[in-house]
Amino acid sequence: MTDVVEVASSGRAKCRGCTKTIAKDDLRFGERVANPFAEGEAELTYWFHVKCAAYRRCERFVTLTPEQLAGIPDAGLLKERAEHGVAHHRLPRIDGLERAKSGRAKCKHCKETIEAQVARVILAFWEEGRFGPMGFVHLTCGPAYFETRALLPWLDHAAPEATAALASEVSAALAG
Ligand SMILES: [Zn+2]
Ligand SMILES: [Zn+2]
Repeated sequence: MTDVVEVASSGRAKCRGCTKTIAKDDLRFGERVANPFAEGEAELTYWFHVKCAAYRRCERFVTLTPEQLAGIPDAGLLKERAEHGVAHHRLPRIDGLERAKSGRAKCKHCKETIEAQVARVILAFWEEGRFGPMGFVHLTCGPAYFETRALLPWLDHAAPEATAALASEVSAALAG
């Protein structure tokens, strides 16, 4: 099934990456899948902002044709990001950045408890047409867990405000 890139004809669809509404006339990415339900159309479309598709549905974004990419502003950069996300398959799980509210959750990488107020990356896993919560890693465990230090664009995409607010911690964690 071929994914689609098109101008949104209405402002009704929500992006399955960031969960925000895709505005009418915005460019959107449609992931076409076989309908898992017996009823209705044979195919379903999961809609994303084009940028959200590049960061969160990398393995699909990289299959876009040159013709489809030609209509996308920043296509070269977004394709580079998507290729990076294919090479480092955990990157598309980055769903946010925050200070831990309590000291209950354990880090998916080091298995230690993430103490309250410590910076952590929020993870979500794509399954059955949605991103479901899958826990956290310490920001400082990020490079080891994601197997790359080039996390900044991903954090900035998922959580621009938190990434700016925690800028010094982010750059310390990602420094070589
Ligand atoms: Zn989005
Ligand atoms: Zn950790």
